[in-house]
Amino acid sequence: MVKTFKYIILGGGVAAGYAAREFAKQGLKPGELAIISKEAVAPYERTVLSKSYLHPEFPSRLPTFYVYAGPRREILFPEWYSEKGIELILSTEIVKADLAAKSLTSAGGETFSYQILLIATGSTVIRLSDLGVQGADAKNIFYFREIDDADKLYEAIKAKKNGKAVVVGGEHIGMELSAMLRCNNLDVTMVYPEPWCMSRLFTSDIAAFNEGYYAKKGVNIMKRTVVVGFTANSDGEVKEVKLKDGRVLEADIVVVGDGIRPQTALFKGQVEEEKGGIKTDGFFKTSVPNVYAVGDVATFPVKLYNELRRVEYAEHACQSARKAVEAIKAAEEGKTVEEYDYLPVLYSHQFGHAWEFYGDNVGDTVLFGDSSPESSIPKFGSYWIKDGKVVGAFWQGRIEEERDAMAYVARVRPSVQNVDELAREGFSFARKIENFGLE
Ligand SMILES: Cc1cc2nc3c(=O)[nH]c(=O)nc-3n(C[C@H](O)[C@H](O)[C@H](O)COP(=O)(O)OP(=O)(O)OC[C@H]3O[C@@H](n4cnc5c(N)ncnc54)[C@H](O)[C@@H]3O)c2cc1C
Repeated sequence: MVKTFKYIILGGGVAAGYAAREFAKQGLKPGELAIISKEAVAPYERTVLSKSYLHPEFPSRLPTFYVYAGPRREILFPEWYSEKGIELILSTEIVKADLAAKSLTSAGGETFSYQILLIATGSTVIRLSDLGVQGADAKNIFYFREIDDADKLYEAIKAKKNGKAVVVGGEHIGMELSAMLRCNNLDVTMVYPEPWCMSRLFTSDIAAFNEGYYAKKGVNIMKRTVVVGFTANSDGEVKEVKLKDGRVLEADIVVVGDGIRPQTALFKGQVEEEKGGIKTDGFFKTSVPNVYAVGDVATFPVKLYNELRRVEYAEHACQSARKAVEAIKAAEEGKTVEEYDYLPVLYSHQFGHAWEFYGDNVGDTVLFGDSSPESSIPKFGSYWIKDGKVVGAFWQGRIEEERDAMAYVARVRPSVQNVDELAREGFSFARKIENFGLE
């Protein structure tokens, strides 16, 4: 039996939910669209998993964070899909894709065919066992990508009350999970090889605030070293973490947030790739006719910087999905749409402190505002300046009122005559550009 659809979205994550919403908005007949997902639940806001999902007292649970799309942030409950005639094919892993034959085969042997395919398979975690780290298959070593992973970690937190946790990795997920483990009263140690946390984005100044704040909250940080092995107790549960510098840490729980890779293996040799992802144009069309790729798997042209990039950010997953569906529907009517015009946006919040970054983190930087971890209301920002223009903007603190102005600055890239003055002006520089435009 072959199940046939006009459109198939492969993957049931963030991009899938926003793509479904856009299909419904643009006009969809019942039975035309299916979403096929390995996960057992409808598309949800994945970013919640490493934040409020692990809250010790009031953990977020479905249905409150199914994808919320559209101008009124309408929650797409599972019933929404059935009302729109969209088939949600859950707990179904696709193990073979034949793009020439327009067919997908599941692990259970079902076959699906389509006219148009939207690849939204996202990323998968890199496992320490794949890297040959000794003892990495011990129990209570967790990876974190999907809701099942979050459930397992949540259970372990309850089982190992007030125990010791080691978080491997100092990037985005490592930072967020360390904060949540600490909020659950575990004794948390972070281990990472870089000289400071979030080194792919943060300057040393921004990192100094965050590391200081984490220390104040009781998180131990061990930098410039890596995990080389684990030992386990007689039940096979992790007991110790061995570091390259010879130190050994006791651990009841280990969480690895040490990198991800895009899930493109199904399409190897069938579609053009670039920079580790599936290469697309500015409408998310791949090199294969009628096949589109969005979200984490797409390597797409960033108009603003005139180069191809692949990013693993939630906002891009939403926007790329919308743009691809707009382009698909417009092409059916012989119309065209504007090319994707992306401004990189990354956000996070830990211990009640939000931060956001817009644009490009290249060139020189200036820091402004109150970035002391000891301050009662820290609020600061940073600009990146390249070739005499502000190209990136970052803010962190309790107040979000700077968001629009900082995003605007990163988008329009104003010239800067005097960097010292820019540092003195701080947020008011962004507000001035937003209100009065470029001079
Ligand atoms: C815990 C966590 C926190 C995050 N926090 C932030 C944040 O604060 N800010 C930010 O900007 N970004 C954040 N991100 C990144 C953001 O969530 C991703 O960029 C976004 O989810 C990408 O969307 P996607 O649809 O491309 O992939 P995903 O949301 O990963 O969805 C991919 C889907 O495809 C399914 N799938 C894959 N292969 C198959 C197959 N063969 N068969 C069937 N189904 C398949 C998967 O099971 C999954 O359902 C976070 C990510 C994680 C994991």
